[in-house]
Amino acid sequence: MPSLVIVGAQWGDEGKGKIVDLLTGQVEWVVRYQGGHNAGHTVVIGEEEFILHLIPSGVLRPGVRCVIGNGVVVDPAALVVEMDALAARGIDFTPHFHISDRAHLILPYHRAVEREAEKTKGTRKIGTTGRGIGPAYADKIARVGIRVGTLLDADLFRRVLTTNVEAMNYFLERLYGVCPSEAFSVDAIYDEYMGYAARLAPYIADTSLLVNRALDRGERVLFEGAQGTHLDVDCGTYPFVTSSSATAGGACTGSGVGPTRINRALGIVKAYTTRVGSGPFPTELTDQVGETLRQAGGEFGATTGRPRRCGWFDAVAVRYAVRVNGLSGIALTKLDVLDVFDALKICNAYRYKGELITEFPSDPLVLEQVEPVYEELPGWSGSVAGIASVDDLPKEARAYVDRIVELLGVSLDVLSFGVRRDQTVVLNNPLAL
Ligand code: GDP
Repeated sequence: MPSLVIVGAQWGDEGKGKIVDLLTGQVEWVVRYQGGHNAGHTVVIGEEEFILHLIPSGVLRPGVRCVIGNGVVVDPAALVVEMDALAARGIDFTPHFHISDRAHLILPYHRAVEREAEKTKGTRKIGTTGRGIGPAYADKIARVGIRVGTLLDADLFRRVLTTNVEAMNYFLERLYGVCPSEAFSVDAIYDEYMGYAARLAPYIADTSLLVNRALDRGERVLFEGAQGTHLDVDCGTYPFVTSSSATAGGACTGSGVGPTRINRALGIVKAYTTRVGSGPFPTELTDQVGETLRQAGGEFGATTGRPRRCGWFDAVAVRYAVRVNGLSGIALTKLDVLDVFDALKICNAYRYKGELITEFPSDPLVLEQVEPVYEELPGWSGSVAGIASVDDLPKEARAYVDRIVELLGVSLDVLSFGVRRDQTVVLNNPLAL
């Protein structure tokens, strides 16, 4: 039985939520493997819109087992709010919900550190969402993080919390000049987190064991990435990245399964490019064309409401994603957004100091200086939002899609041309045997 990892092939917000939701109809398990509640996946079912931050998008399919894997950082306050919001809308997923005991906790001091770090002059501002996610990952790597499983041992939790709070209060005061009256209280955090412990205990488990056993039984598992390839801490446009492994390889370390157990990797690719936060973006359009894309595509963050930076499709950036994720296919999304243009551009190379380059550069300083080399294609008249099959696409839209596929050298598995489930064509089922 195939298992599949789904990743964003650009800078996130490619429409992963919709495609995950679409494909979860064929799987028994969905596993989130990295990131935190900074992710925002939007899924539209009928007239209803759901925005999920931490809980996998599979939750909207009754009976699908949903896992928050060990690679995720969990803010229990945000998780409880999300669980309550789903319950209030009649989604009862808790009998099928599991949280890894190895996932790391976000604590209130992580938010404070992140806020202060972004305020400090001279640091390279990343444009974080201020939710403490980066500092929680930093603690994990520094081996002072507190894991979800520790919530189940109140004495141990108090001991490690005390050590961390003392260190963090010292750090916040000495490094950032935070007033001692704002110091964190161990008792307050302890009481708050013991409340979460009581609420979350039924779901905390060794999820690596659960998922591997499911694979042994031949059940199908979909690994759901958040953010995107160029935001991956290793493969992305460092330092303007997130703090976790958003690429396909992260699915293994972030859920405790071996690479031999994941058969395919589907990249979600938006028909143009967007990014949030700071960092290089070669095809960015800061003019009216960019504004038109933003409005037509509703390019405002699902989590923060921040306007997204918009630009033409960048085949160099996505070819890199095909390489580092070993993509077996792509889902091309939001084609309908391009209905509004008379002409479209695709970047197929960069020019740097007079030289043509076709491979995505590692150095963000180079990336900042490259000039995109474009080819221009005609737009189409009318809308692609109502098509029933790819044969119904206007010939210019078909040519645009075909050119992207040709430049990427990968199979087009899914085409999406609207927010609804039925505005999708599956050309090649990535979960078929
Ligand atoms: P994700 O984080 O990758 O899941 O992406 P977001 O949810 O942040 O952004 C994708 C947005 O685009 C959501 O509002 C989706 O409902 C919407 N969307 C997904 N696919 C399509 C599509 O093919 N066309 C249009 N117009 N919107 C889409």
